[in-house]
Amino acid sequence: MNKDELWQSALAEIELDTNISKANFVTWFRNTSISAQKDGGVVIGVPNAFSKEWLENKFNKLILRTLRGISPDIKEISFIIESKKQTAAKVQRQQRKSVMPPSFSDQLSFEQFSVDKETNLNPKYKFENYIVGASNELAHAASLSVAQNPGKEYNPLFIYGGVGLGKTHLLQSIGNALKEKHKNTQVQYLTCEKFTNEFISAVQGQKIKDFREKYRKIDLLIMDDVQFIAHKERTQEELFHTFNALYEDNKQIVLSSDKAPHLIDSLEERLRSRFQGGMTADIGHPDFEMRVTILRAKIKERNTELSDEVIQYIADHTQSNIRELEGTLSVLLASSKMAGLELTLEKTKKYLAQSIRRPRRIISLKKILKVVADFYDVTEKEILSQNRKRDIAHPRQVVMYLMREDLKYSYPLIGSKLGGRDHTTVIHACSKISRELKDNNEQLQEEVSFLKQEIYNA
Ligand code: ADP
Ligand code: MG
Repeated sequence: MNKDELWQSALAEIELDTNISKANFVTWFRNTSISAQKDGGVVIGVPNAFSKEWLENKFNKLILRTLRGISPDIKEISFIIESKKQTAAKVQRQQRKSVMPPSFSDQLSFEQFSVDKETNLNPKYKFENYIVGASNELAHAASLSVAQNPGKEYNPLFIYGGVGLGKTHLLQSIGNALKEKHKNTQVQYLTCEKFTNEFISAVQGQKIKDFREKYRKIDLLIMDDVQFIAHKERTQEELFHTFNALYEDNKQIVLSSDKAPHLIDSLEERLRSRFQGGMTADIGHPDFEMRVTILRAKIKERNTELSDEVIQYIADHTQSNIRELEGTLSVLLASSKMAGLELTLEKTKKYLAQSIRRPRRIISLKKILKVVADFYDVTEKEILSQNRKRDIAHPRQVVMYLMREDLKYSYPLIGSKLGGRDHTTVIHACSKISRELKDNNEQLQEEVSFLKQEIYNA
């Protein structure tokens, strides 16, 4: 058995070990390999310092035990950080050689796409992979037109609709299409929440001039989820001025919201009338045919196949929104792949029956705490404690970030729920995590996306 085969067998066993959750397995063992093996010593290559620290501290025994079980003359293990290129090449080599059945980790190869630093656009959202049907026809046509003729016909373009129905996808498609055609166009995508936060820090740091300059030289401003501006008077005023400056300059503005402009709470009248001054289009719930088309497209994207009866069954039983449709499909594909069996109608029915019986997903602090604690192998009590060791402080910061992001708790409330911490500590934690995510800390991006998946699907 060569070292690649040895590591593949070890991974297959570790993956099945009950002491390690799937999330942990994927996070910590992805992109690892055996770098060298000599005289009873095995050197394990890991992608970064953080993985090294975790594997050394938490999984040393498990790895050694597993390796010895396969090859009893192994006496000790050590870890070494290998550059990405090396590891990637190795992984590819391993995958080619590997005779193991596809494992759970394969399906969790996280999105390869990364957000463009300058525009904040995610290249995965394109018109080309946006399915059009009766529920989004108008919104789609208006978006295309804006991408072709920015600042002309429909300004602003205001798209609204419920969660998971494709607003962000459409908004970002406009930006990506325009940027592709005109490289030098200044495109900026951001959520209204981000605009608000930036505005507040600009005021606090007396950088309001820079802030205005930044937002007033943009050719296409895309602002997602403007409903967030409800009750924020000063931000509304600033947005009003930004809006006017851009508009007068024939710059394009695209907005989205979860409800129509006239239904946004406590929105200043003058801003409301600006929002309504161009083109307003809603996105509704996809009908059965469209759900089938979307499923087919997503199945093809993943290079896999499902029978028509299964596709129709899923479409018939997942009606709430497109995000959920995608989620259901992912889980179904992952579980059938893991079992190494074809996804039959029977199995689909069984799975969906289970998931339908589950109560609606309600995210709560309790759930966030549990998922995060499980994932990082710490106790909930430790998260609430005053312990400042990195092992515990990091999960705690992630909890704060998720409470802010997903529960929309205020900073002081987060502080008080987490063992009476000061709100400045909470602000520090949330902005630290946000910043690292934005700076493309891949490890953290994967952790957070996995945690969110667990929180929403649990
Ligand atoms: P929203 O912003 O309205 O909450 P998103 O744009 O984030 O919704 O869409 C949720 C998920 O569904 C995304 O993964 C998106 O790519 C996918 N999606 C939504 N609408 C479509 C569509 N018409 N065609 C293909 N995928 C879609
Ligand atoms: Mg969105």
